[in-house]
Amino acid sequence: MNTLLLKNNDEDVLKAGKILADGGLVAIPTETVYGLAANALDGNAVKRIFEAKGRPADNPLIVHIADFKDIERFELVSEIPEKAKLLARKFWSGPLTIIMPKGRGVPDEVSAGLSTVAVRFPSHKTAQAVIKAAGVPLAAPSANISGSPSPTKAEHVTADLSGRIDAIIDGGECKVGLESTVLTLAEEKPRLLRPGGITAEEIESVIGEIEIDDAVLYQLKSGEKAASPGMKYKHYSPKAEVILVVGTDREYIDFVNSNSDITVAALCYDGDEKELKVKCLTLGAKDDFKKQAHELFDKLREIDRLPEIKKVYARCPKPDGVGMAVYNRLIRAAGFEVIELEKL
Ligand code: AMP
Ligand code: MG
Repeated sequence: MNTLLLKNNDEDVLKAGKILADGGLVAIPTETVYGLAANALDGNAVKRIFEAKGRPADNPLIVHIADFKDIERFELVSEIPEKAKLLARKFWSGPLTIIMPKGRGVPDEVSAGLSTVAVRFPSHKTAQAVIKAAGVPLAAPSANISGSPSPTKAEHVTADLSGRIDAIIDGGECKVGLESTVLTLAEEKPRLLRPGGITAEEIESVIGEIEIDDAVLYQLKSGEKAASPGMKYKHYSPKAEVILVVGTDREYIDFVNSNSDITVAALCYDGDEKELKVKCLTLGAKDDFKKQAHELFDKLREIDRLPEIKKVYARCPKPDGVGMAVYNRLIRAAGFEVIELEKL
């Protein structure tokens, strides 16, 4: 299949809308990462997303809307919880996904057979324009091959999916750089299933206390069921082995230098490169979690372009605020392999 490369202008957005309305797949920019979109109301179109990405069929998709009223108009949910209205008023449009009881309009392919559905209203103007041009809500997981780092630039999408999808809209770099925060309101207590750009503290300031699902910070035990199926898979991994190193600045630098050779790289903070004797990929300043979120996937992909690198020692962010989202992605990239030079 020939993949069309579209520009971020009105004419190409209309073209993308037409492809989507006809059951095709288009990768679109959003403020989180690039999404691989299909008509969320068309089970056959949605099936093609799973094929193109090699995504396990039991991992449900997020439905993207461009107007709060789309939820009722397309019967996406059976009921809108009061807390969803409060959160929508504060954080939509934006990088927060809310899980609610599924409505009649959503085919089983989207929810992977679950009785709930995930809904998000992206703030990216192009994403909104494409949804409007398609005239339907769009199911859109990250536009990468399953398991590889999520795409934050159009060239990342091209590298993974060129020839497998109908079109890609190049909208430049994604602002947040990590996937949306996922919160379920479909159970008795609100629970964070995936951390992202909207933090647990921000959500609590609107709806009161929420629970943090164990899978956000810890590895599921074998056989344990994941509330968010996506959290059980090894994810975001470059081909080299990634190892998280917990320690002070000094401990990290001494550890990496005493284990250095040309096959080793460091995924580190600004300034570390002055003292490290290995290839360094910097994520930003130590306390700048937003910058680290923005850089993480691009740097993980850069590692894949360095064939000599077999092992990457990554600094471990504090799992607070947006740092929780960076930690959550890094620990999966590392397959939960951690070296503790000090207690976290
Ligand atoms: P992605 O589309 O790649 O950002 O992945 C979507 C994430 O949302 C995955 O981790 C899914 O498991 C999760 N998700 C989507 N729908 C649901 C749902 N109905 N219940 C729980 N998790 C969901
Ligand atoms: Mg994904």
